[in-house]
Amino acid sequence: MDKTKWQSIMLPKELVRDLEVFAESGIASSLGFTNKSQLAAFAIRDFLTKYSEYLEIYQIADYSEEKITVIDHGENQIVTLKHDGKFLRCDKDKSNYCEHIKFVLICPAVLKTVKKFGYPDENNEHRT
Ligand SMILES: [Zn+2]
Repeated sequence: MDKTKWQSIMLPKELVRDLEVFAESGIASSLGFTNKSQLAAFAIRDFLTKYSEYLEIYQIADYSEEKITVIDHGENQIVTLKHDGKFLRCDKDKSNYCEHIKFVLICPAVLKTVKKFGYPDENNEHRT
């Protein structure tokens, strides 16, 4: 690895431990990964590819325990998400799981607020 082409970033310790465990597994080596940095780079690249569309279209305007306001640049409108007693509900789509809700679930600050509502977060257990 040419270390002049890499830079360090801070990650939560438990996430680094999980990366180390996976990097040392036969699964990682069978996929061609030789260290945890390659795994982290792959995961970040995958995240940016997967969510780049959301990041270009949607923007958090405001959030509180009562509601989350999203600017939808694609539709050129303001969308409000409120808790319906069980989950978030989108006023535009009249749904508990639309593109707006998927977007806010990748925003750590909003996610912290959403967790207070008891929204399931099985895919985000390492977020701090
Ligand atoms: Zn929506």
